[in-house]
Amino acid sequence: MKTEIYNVKKIGTEEYTRAIDRGAELLRAGELVAFPTETVYGLGGNGLDADACRKIYEAKGRPSDNPLILHVADFEGLKKIVSRVTETAEKIFAAFMPGPITVILPRAKCVPDAVTGGLDTVAVRMPDNQVARDLILAAGIPVAAPSANISGRPSPTNGETVSRDLAGRIGAILDGGATDWGIESTIVDCTEAEGRDTVTILRPGAITGEMLQEIIGVVKTAAPKNTAEKEASLKRAPMAPGMKYTHYAPKAPMTLVTDGETMARELRRRKIAGEQVGLLLFAEDYPEYEVDYKCSLGSRSDIREIAAGLYDNLRYFDELPVDSLLCPVVPDEGLGAAVVNRLRKAAGGRLL
Ligand code: AMP
Ligand code: MG
Repeated sequence: MKTEIYNVKKIGTEEYTRAIDRGAELLRAGELVAFPTETVYGLGGNGLDADACRKIYEAKGRPSDNPLILHVADFEGLKKIVSRVTETAEKIFAAFMPGPITVILPRAKCVPDAVTGGLDTVAVRMPDNQVARDLILAAGIPVAAPSANISGRPSPTNGETVSRDLAGRIGAILDGGATDWGIESTIVDCTEAEGRDTVTILRPGAITGEMLQEIIGVVKTAAPKNTAEKEASLKRAPMAPGMKYTHYAPKAPMTLVTDGETMARELRRRKIAGEQVGLLLFAEDYPEYEVDYKCSLGSRSDIREIAAGLYDNLRYFDELPVDSLLCPVVPDEGLGAAVVNRLRKAAGGRLL
């Protein structure tokens, strides 16, 4: 299939409007269209059409029990795909939507099993990105959209990366340049029994636990903390099937290191063993290391910059002859919690 590629960087121009209309037309016809959001690029398909959803799984090579997020442009669209809005969800809508957050609610009958992986809940998101909103509005349907990458790889944060993963497999790519946040939306489960002011964070993101805590009584985290919990969570299907798959991985195996001393020691050890090691480094430490392959994550004091560039930096090493990667962990608070979550998965849990 030939993938049509459109530049949508100049909002409101004739070229822009044509691209949005064409994208919407393809979506309505059951084809797939990749588009930018404020988090990462999404691979969109008609969220009410099971066949279109199956095409998403196929194009990405995604396991079919990993449910999709439905994207809407406004609250009117949102209310059509859920059967009930809890009080806690209302608070989240008022505070953070549109924005980089996804809410799990009981699903409406019109939502096909192909979207939810057979769950009786649905994940809904209202992106705060003009291209995404214009596309969804023009299509007039909820748009099912996981990240626009081959399953298991780092999510794409620009149009070229989408094209590298998916060109030839999908109908069109709307290239709107680099995304703002660079990591996926926060996912919160709002299906707790009525009257309890509680949410569970299923995936950390730019809307942080601290921000949610300011408006909601109890904020819990679902991420497994150790092997025993992880194994338990794998068996405890089907709370969030997506949590059981590895994600975001660069091609060379990556290991996280907790401090500079460990980084230097591990680098020496691997060099002696004849390994070609790639390093991800904070900008402050970058000049210190004399290696063939290294890249800067950004300043350790600027977590927003680190998040925005993270996936591109992970993918950078895919084109280089490295045997393994070392990467420092970032402070686990605020947006840092979301970055640590992605780093751990990208490293398959390897930590020194
Ligand atoms: P992505 O590949 O970035 O689109 O990831 C979508 C995430 O949303 C996956 O991790 C899913 O597990 C999660 N998700 C989607 N729908 C549901 C749902 N009904 N309940 C729990 N998690 C969901
Ligand atoms: Mg994804």
